[in-house]
Parts: sequence; C-alpha cells; structure tokens
Amino acid sequence: LAKEKGKNNFQFYNEEINQKMLRKTQIRNGLFKAMNNHEYRLVYQPKVDITSGKAVGVEALLRWNPSFGSVSPGEFIPVLEETGMIVEVGEWVLREACIQCRNWEDKGMRISVAVNVSGRQLVEEGFVELVQKALEDSGIEPELLEIEITESIIFDVTETTEIVNQLKSLGVRIAIDDFGVGFSSLNVVKNFNFDNLKIDQSFLNDVMKNDKAAIILTSLIDIGKKLGTPVVVEGVETEEQYEFLKPLGVVGQGYYFSKPQPPERIMEFSAVRGS
Ligand code: C2E
Ligand code: MG
Ligand code: MG
Ligand code: MG
Repeated sequence: LAKEKGKNNFQFYNEEINQKMLRKTQIRNGLFKAMNNHEYRLVYQPKVDITSGKAVGVEALLRWNPSFGSVSPGEFIPVLEETGMIVEVGEWVLREACIQCRNWEDKGMRISVAVNVSGRQLVEEGFVELVQKALEDSGIEPELLEIEITESIIFDVTETTEIVNQLKSLGVRIAIDDFGVGFSSLNVVKNFNFDNLKIDQSFLNDVMKNDKAAIILTSLIDIGKKLGTPVVVEGVETEEQYEFLKPLGVVGQGYYFSKPQPPERIMEFSAVRGS
C-alpha cells in the first residue's frame, strides 16, 4: 500500500511540475507575440499626499491580456526579463507613459508619471538616449517623468551611479522602489541621490499586527526625511493604515485611494481629488 501511495504521490508531483512548465511555455510563447498583437496596455495608480489629499503623481503599471486569460506582472515580467524581451517592452512602456502624460497635460491635467525600469533595461546600451528621445517625442518636461528602480537591480554600483547621474542631468527624477526588502537598502540610500523613496508594502502590511514593523516603518520614513527625500508608502489598503500614516507627512499609494486605473479614470480621480 505504502509503495502504491508513494507511486501516486510521485505521479501527482510530476503532474504539478508538468502543469507549471506548460503554463510557463504558454506564457513565454504568448509573450513573443504580445507586442505585435497589441496585447499590452498601461494602467495608472495615483500617489496621494496624505496631508493634503491631493494626487501628486501616478505610477504606470504594465498589463498583459493574452487570449488565454490574464497574467499578472509578477508572473510575466520575470519571463520578459529572462528572455530579454523586457528591453523592447520597456521601451514601449516608457514611450507610452510619456505620451499619456502629454495627453493629460493637453487636457489640462499636469501630473508626473513614474515608470518601472528593470535592471536589464537600465544598463542596456543607449537607455539614456532612449529616455531623452521619449521626452522629446512626447514634448513633456523632464521633471514630469520619474524612473523607478529597485535596489535589487543594482549589481554594479559604479555603472548604476553613472547611468542614474546621466538620467538626472536630463532632468528626470529617480525613485528607489520596494525600499527596505533588498539586501543593501542602507547602502543604497548612502550611495545614491534619489528623489523619492518608495517603502515596500510589506512594512505597512505588518504594522497593525506587529509592534516592530511599526518601529521599522517609522524609522524608514525618518531616514527619508532626514535625507530630505520625499517618502512614498506603498500598499495603503485600509482606513486604519491611512490613519497610522496621517501624522507622518508621507505620500501614500494603494487600493485605499485607488486601484490602478485606465488613463481616462485618472482624469476623473484627479478632478475629485484636485491635483
Ligand atoms: P511595484 O513597482 O512595486 O508596483 C506596485 C504594485 O503594488 C503593483 O502591482 C500594484 O498594483 C500593487 N498595489 C498597489 N496598491 C496596492 C495595495 O493597496 N495592496 C496591494 N496588495 N497591492 C497594491 P502590479 O501592477 O501587479 O505590479 C507588480 C510589479 O511588477 C511592480 O511592483 C513592478 O515591480 C513590476 N512592473 C509592473 N509594471 C512594470 C513595467 O512596466 N516594467 C517593469 N520593469 N516592471 C513592472
Ligand atoms: Mg514601482
Ligand atoms: Mg514597489
Ligand atoms: Mg513591487
């Protein structure tokens, strides 16, 4: 009996691996056609100054809707990175976000847009020129564009510093994303000049359950303040979290304010909130 059971387990295990591999192959094959099939779009999530209640910017987030159903960025971005397709897709994201920013401005809403950039993209030859071109072609002011990079992509400090400095000299702003969860958070703030510090949502998530999490979160916010870098706290979902952040003078981003939205809804949101 035991032997039989073991055998079944083994088959079950194999089946599970098979399913995962099939899904990954389906995603990978789908991604190869996604750009030509126009299956990508961007949604935008407002960042809200908690003190004034005003939207201070939006973050562009990539969505992919293949014919076989929707796949989350957490699932498809790593595949884009592995295959190198992130370079082409990332270029599209950058250009699209700048054009959208310009469209909003033409309609009377001046708001900055943040774009996530993968490590592979950042160090790709010609990235700075690409950013410059996207700014020129859309005609937006450089300060309306913010590039979000995560500390985990900083493998080579010298090279990254060089690129970050070049981007900054274009007038573009730089944010450090998912701050606090990497291996070298404090080194990163020591070595780079960022315009925004985005604290990873895991810190706020734990605040209501865990005293230490609250101490760590307020300390991270304090680091930002002492460095003179504006702080964004990610993942504000509840009233309780909002109340916790209220006295801390930060910018919040999360479902409590708004889920990521198609561009026309951002106009409405901003009309309500008054950007
Ligand atoms: P991120 O840059 O840290 O983006 C924030 C993520 O948190 C987004 O997930 C957003 O939808 C989600 N989020 C916002 N508010 C809340 C909240 O209140 N609660 C919870 N639980 N989640 C919230 P999304 O859109 O699934 O993107 C996941 C990650 O994929 C992003 O994390 C970013 O690292 C990456 N990503 C998304 N778009 C792009 C892109 O165009 N290029 C690159 N390279 N990466 C991207
Ligand atoms: Mg981000
Ligand atoms: Mg983040
Ligand atoms: Mg993240």
